[in-house]
Amino acid sequence: MSAESSEWGMCAANGCPLFGSLGGHPWYCFCHHGRPNSANDAITHCLRNAEAVVVDLTKAIRADSITGHKSEATAIALRELKQHPKARELAFDRKTDGNARAWLQRLERHLLDATNDFGQQQGLSGIVPTAPVIGPTHALDHYSEVQQ
Ligand SMILES: [Zn+2]
Repeated sequence: MSAESSEWGMCAANGCPLFGSLGGHPWYCFCHHGRPNSANDAITHCLRNAEAVVVDLTKAIRADSITGHKSEATAIALRELKQHPKARELAFDRKTDGNARAWLQRLERHLLDATNDFGQQQGLSGIVPTAPVIGPTHALDHYSEVQQ
């Protein structure tokens, strides 16, 4: 998991499909940047599996913004987005997004939210029942072998 092993321009986290755009040597994507190394694999796994279509779509939109026309990659990603559990809310909405830039921000925000919980210590929820403390509550005579 070193910066040297990642492809040029890509996030330094091992196997991450996103571009490295934050930090600077090593460069990390917006999902991996500032996160503990222990969370890297979980974040990458999420990006490559559950959110793979959203990742493909954000990369295609970025590429299209350079070329200025809708690419085949975007068309494929848009078609595959329909299989995503949140397809309806992730789809482009002319009213709220207005333009591709705002839509891209919303998609990238979704990726951040999807990977945000990895690597964070989860406290005990109140649902887990805990037993009352058992054992001596005060010293009794059977501790008499201790020198006073
Ligand atoms: Zn990354």
